[in-house]
This record gives sequence, structure tokens and C-alpha cells, in this order.
Amino acid sequence: MDAISYQRAADIGSAVQAGGQPGTVFIGGGTNLLDLMKNGVARPARLVDITHIDGLGGVTPLPDGGLRIGALVRNSDAANHTWVRERYPLLSQALLAGASAQLRNMATVGGNLMQRTRCYYFYDTGFPQCNKRAPGSGCAALDGNTRIHAILGASNQCIATNPSDMSVALAALDAVVRVTGPSGERVIPFAEFHRLPGDRPDLDTTLKPGELITAVDLPPPLFADHSKYLKIRDRASYAFALVSVAAALQMDGNTVRSARIALGGVAHKPWRASATEAALAGRTLDAATLQSAAALAVQGAQPRRDNAFKVTLAQRAIVRAVQQAGGVA
Ligand code: SF4
Repeated sequence: MDAISYQRAADIGSAVQAGGQPGTVFIGGGTNLLDLMKNGVARPARLVDITHIDGLGGVTPLPDGGLRIGALVRNSDAANHTWVRERYPLLSQALLAGASAQLRNMATVGGNLMQRTRCYYFYDTGFPQCNKRAPGSGCAALDGNTRIHAILGASNQCIATNPSDMSVALAALDAVVRVTGPSGERVIPFAEFHRLPGDRPDLDTTLKPGELITAVDLPPPLFADHSKYLKIRDRASYAFALVSVAAALQMDGNTVRSARIALGGVAHKPWRASATEAALAGRTLDAATLQSAAALAVQGAQPRRDNAFKVTLAQRAIVRAVQQAGGVA
């Protein structure tokens, strides 16, 4: 049995100071961290409880017309907040597509950003080979069951996917993550927050030691009238995405003025489909345009033995999500 010390942080400063110590992990809702600890995947020496810190909660309007969501806002509260539902329905849909009602009531926005992969071999310590859990040990998934694994952006060190639905919507919305650390505050564009595995799959994010997520900022809403989060999964609820699509459009009549498309379930991070977005801009949503644009999203895909279906599924899901966002399906 491992000894674990517990500290309840009173403010951001003391949390950051404690969080910079080796073996220290912040705990908010704990919905993923406690599972990892029970399975022996995470073995922190010290937990710093951030749930009693003032200033990490609340949903507040920003001067530019955007919205700030505090790191400790529960997923269910964020999803059901009037301003989120009205101005960012894509985000509300994505949050409600995740986990179960009970988990959404506990899980926080900051914790959702920090969710770890659901790769079977990462969670099962009976498999010693996992570069994410034990750097340098290998990757049991490479020759294993790869149904849920990545088709884009993977490396020969790790083919895991990011499990967060919320993060896919935030990627499409060009959110930014606000953090405070030993060197002060900084803002991380969402595309730079999560990492591809490369040769350091143990690192999921670009957070520096001791940095604490304080909020997520959303830019002014542009897509409230035309957005859709579509999640394809093995069960109707309480299952992670095989493929998901966050589609957000600005429309001029029947013509797409601009498009934002992000994919979940296909890569180590939420995957922006920039070529698809460019191919949709200035076009009407006819079948030929949609299919050729969707095909661009999976160019360069490298499926494994069990997940080649994701290449086709991702394209079909993009077509469906964009049609629904654009009101043509
Ligand atoms: Fe570990 Fe990544 Fe390989 Fe899964 S895919 S076993 S998380 S290294």
C-alpha cells in the first residue's frame, strides 16, 4: 500500500506552490484520477485538493463578448448554463454526450481537459508495456486490440486517443486555456494544449510542472445557429467515442462562409480538420462537396489492424454532422 498525503489548498498561490513538488497531483472532481489510483496506474505521493479555492468557479461574460468558464465548474453545470446553451450549443452538446449524469455532476471542466486515455493497456497494469504509463517500456497496443486507437498523428511509441468530448468542441471553438504556475499566468491556445505522442507519450499536455488550470475562455460566439456535436460509440450512453465530430458553420443563406471541424476518437489530441474547413468555405452543402471535403480529413491516416473502419466512419460522421449543422439533413 502506498502512503499518500493530502493537502487542501486555500488559494491558487498555495496550490501552485504545492503542485510544483515532485509526485504531487491536483484533485478536483477526481472522476478519472481516483480510477487511475485504484488501478495502480497513477501513484501520486501527494494530492492537492483544489475544490475549496475561490476564483476557480463560475461562468462569466468577457468584455469581447466571449465567455469564461472556471476550471471547477462541474460538467453538468457548464452544459446546462443558459449562456452556454444559447451561445455555444456545440459545447453543451459535447458535454452532455460525455460519461453519465452522475459523473458529469462530479467532473470539472479543468479535470475534463486532463482526462487520460482509455487505452486498455494503459489501464491494465498486467501489461508491463505501456510507454504512457511506464516510459521506455514499449507499447502493448501495437500488436494488440486496436479497435479504439488512433488513425491520425500517432507514433511508434503510442497510438492512444484522447477520450474527452468537451475538448473536441473546445478545439472547434478555438477556446484558450488559462493557467497559473510558478512563473505566473499564461494563456494556451487550445490547439497547443494537448500533445501528439511523439517520443514522449507520457506527456498528454503542454502544462509545465506546477501549473494549475484556472479557466477556459471562449471567443465571441459565431456558430450558435449552425453547429452539431455528433458522437459515434458502441452504446447509446456512457461510452467513449469511436469517432466524434464537432462541426460549426457560419452560413450565408445556403453557402458556407466559414467552417470549423474537429474530430475526436481518432488521435492523441482533438484533431482539427483544417483542409476540410477550407474545402467547405464558399461552397453549398451538396453531397459531392461534403464527401470530397470529408475525405481530406483522413488524408494520411494510418489505421491499425482493428480500426480501419474509423477511416470510413470519420468521413461519414463529418458529412452527417456538417449536414445537421447546416440544416440540410
Ligand atoms: Fe500505452 Fe499508448 Fe501503447 Fe496504449 S497506445 S499501451 S497508452 S503506449
